[in-house]
Amino acid sequence: MRNTDNIIANEKIDARKLRRAKKIITELYDELPNYIARGHGPFLAAIYDADGKQIVRAANSVVSMNCSHNHAEMNAIRDAEELLHTYDLSGHNLSLYVTAEPCIMCLGGIMWSGIRDVYFGVTSGVVESITGFDEGFKPNWLNEFKRRNITVYGNIEPEHGESVLRDYMTQNRIVYKPQRD
Ligand SMILES: [Zn+2]
Repeated sequence: MRNTDNIIANEKIDARKLRRAKKIITELYDELPNYIARGHGPFLAAIYDADGKQIVRAANSVVSMNCSHNHAEMNAIRDAEELLHTYDLSGHNLSLYVTAEPCIMCLGGIMWSGIRDVYFGVTSGVVESITGFDEGFKPNWLNEFKRRNITVYGNIEPEHGESVLRDYMTQNRIVYKPQRD
């Protein structure tokens, strides 16, 4: 489903939710270069409660922590679960905001966490074409999330996110992935 903004969504677009998502994701894009400068990967996620209060914010730390599953979404979910002392966030009505479309691993992490809504910036196809990261295979995931009552909005303010990723590449930062040849 697309509207004139080229927003991707798995429900009828709610203008209020979209407005809030644009504001939060723009803040994340603005903050991301500071995380990159400290050696974090070029993705940033935040989890907000239903009142619009930020619970946690986390960047990708694959390289800095030597951990292949430390993507921004996974770090944010872990931090939220530790903070709220639960492995099931569903009772807290939480939304995840992230600067790029979740990869194959993070889709699983989000599904098992109980996050209710997902808002992302740049799509995986664009991430792959700019950076060379492998985002995995994700057939029909928006519909699969809809079936599980997880709302998704994506392609939010993508030009801003693309420019941060291009800057990451011009700084010759690491594009971390296993060698397959
Ligand atoms: Zn991921």
